Amino acid sequence: MSYELHKRNANHLRLLGKVLFLQKNHHEETPVKQDVAALCAQLIRFDTTNFGEGNSRGEAEAARFIHGLLRGAGYEPLLLGPDDKRSSVVVRVPGADRNLPGLLVHAHLDVVPAEPEQWSFDPFAGTIKDGYVYGRGASDMKDMVAMTLATLLDWAASGTKPRRDIVVAFVADEEDKGDYGALWLVKDHPELFIGVEAAIGESGGAATILTGQDGAPVNLYPVAVGERGTLHIRVRATGTSGHGSRPVEPNAVKLLISALDRVGNYRWPLTLTPIVRAYIERTTAALGFAADLTGEDGVRAAIEAMGTAGTVAGVTVRCSSTPTVLRAGYKVNVIPGVAEADIDIRALPGTVEETLATIDVLLGEGISREFLSYQPPTSSSTQSHWFAEMAAALTRHDPAAVVVPYCMGGGTDAKAFAPLGISCYGFSPMGADPEERSAAGVHGIDERVPVASLISGQLILEDFLAAV
Ligand SMILES: [Zn+2]
Repeated sequence: MSYELHKRNANHLRLLGKVLFLQKNHHEETPVKQDVAALCAQLIRFDTTNFGEGNSRGEAEAARFIHGLLRGAGYEPLLLGPDDKRSSVVVRVPGADRNLPGLLVHAHLDVVPAEPEQWSFDPFAGTIKDGYVYGRGASDMKDMVAMTLATLLDWAASGTKPRRDIVVAFVADEEDKGDYGALWLVKDHPELFIGVEAAIGESGGAATILTGQDGAPVNLYPVAVGERGTLHIRVRATGTSGHGSRPVEPNAVKLLISALDRVGNYRWPLTLTPIVRAYIERTTAALGFAADLTGEDGVRAAIEAMGTAGTVAGVTVRCSSTPTVLRAGYKVNVIPGVAEADIDIRALPGTVEETLATIDVLLGEGISREFLSYQPPTSSSTQSHWFAEMAAALTRHDPAAVVVPYCMGGGTDAKAFAPLGISCYGFSPMGADPEERSAAGVHGIDERVPVASLISGQLILEDFLAAV
């Protein structure tokens, strides 16, 4: 592969020593100095593991810590949640012009489980070493929590007021369904989001350094403007139960297996939505590659030419349906009457009805389905003031920035906020590490984020939030 991370002569290092803010530790009276990396490390030390299905270590301690910091800085944050274990923090920062529509910044406090025996360090120690912050959540997404928090504390220390109201939500439960976090807030406290027109959150705005056809580096900053919808379904085959030695039809297990074979192996048609088309066209143009997107072969070649930036394009040029859970039978000589499976379906913006109709045809006779969760796709304009301001902030930081829109293959809390009429973007900015370090280990092992990227990311975020 000819596309690799390129060494850049960026000026991030001069910022490394910058003290971002002064704050009072809420446990002690002595003022302490902290930077965004230390803050990120500190947040990692709160084990906020979310095991799913409502089973979690809880976000309460981390939320109380953030709540304390914000109160200490003079804000009026709210500590909220459906119970005292699952907490979120919401604060509204009044803008200079309160008539302007507000902007929401959302970042989740929970993390996915870590299996410490597979890691080369303690996932919850929050260590800073060799230019990285290490630990579960370092890049998903206590980095953004720290950057946002640092910005608010920085503003409090310097007396900075943003142009418009900024509502910040540090939420619980993103790594599951959001029932204890974003969805709960939207359902029980919609008043917190009054006047909010747009939101920024997870995924997007981070530097991806590619190599163009001429060998020169291309500094790509993909900003998420849409997400495929999440359609999680449970399917059930019903047959005749009986003795395993006397086969009878219909057999629920056989019915289910045939249906899953059709659904799981279906080749979804190539569907270039405007966002994905723009992502591929603009990225390949920046690389100097002449893309021909008229057919499967041309699209495949374009995606290949995009290097690491092609991965997300590859999963968003079509819908997908993946069987993930199977449940049937209890004894080898008994034919069960029912067999069930769960299927993870992702539908591109504008394709939900068509996708479900296709699924029903593929499932065929004798199989019923129900939704485990139904979160439609989101999509926001690239022609908006918001997108222009994100691009402008990235370009002020990196004059060579190529800012492109993209569609996420999975989902975030944006799906919870979008039904409030909020235009959602994935924008958690990060500059490139001058020594080619990169974030790694999201939902995997040895998760880490470069300190330099955190520092530059916080400056870009602060610049954007003040100017937008
Ligand atoms: Zn996340």
